[in-house]
Amino acid sequence: MNPWFGAIPFLVALAASIAMRAPHIERGKTVKVVQSHKGKLERVLFALVGIGGLLLPLLYLATPWLAFADYPLRPWALACGLALIAVWLWLFHRSHADLGTNWSVSLELRERHSLITSGVYSRLRHPMYAAIFCHAIAQALLLANWIAGPAMLVAFTLMFALRLSREERMLRQHFGAAYEDYAKRTKRLVPGIW
Ligand code: SAH
Repeated sequence: MNPWFGAIPFLVALAASIAMRAPHIERGKTVKVVQSHKGKLERVLFALVGIGGLLLPLLYLATPWLAFADYPLRPWALACGLALIAVWLWLFHRSHADLGTNWSVSLELRERHSLITSGVYSRLRHPMYAAIFCHAIAQALLLANWIAGPAMLVAFTLMFALRLSREERMLRQHFGAAYEDYAKRTKRLVPGIW
């Protein structure tokens, strides 16, 4: 199968997700950050996600440098990848909309930060990360290359693993019992499972 059948929808979805986030970045600038955990570790993780999610896909698509790791695109991978794009974009949009100005790209608390427990946050504590996992798995399925395909999944899994408990600790310290109660009635990433 022509590898562009997977690469083009992936690129369109990536551009759509970047465009979706842009107004939230602008809106976030209007609300003061009162607590930030943006350390060296975060910067290293952002660099890795940039390499896995942007640099390597672009090198794969625009240069022959990664061609040695190409493999044929399979129809089942294309079908699953397209389905995951739909979940990714929907959940990415909903989680930004529900978090509103409480959203930050890194671990931060903003002025009058409120604990969101409604919308997609009523079932999951980390729907935005769930959306990014859908993105990373879609990339692995749609870019038929052993390096560019799984790169985001590797980078984001590392970021998630090193961020999750720090994020939950920060919210638990700030919101106390309200966060404890919220954590008791929700799952982290996968509805009904974990
Ligand atoms: N982990 C969440 C949010 C990612 S954005 C998700 O995957 O959907 C990261 C920022 O969101 C953090 O700086 C944190 O302050 C904020 N945040 C996370 N969960 C929140 C919640 N339920 N209510 C309000 N802010 C939250």
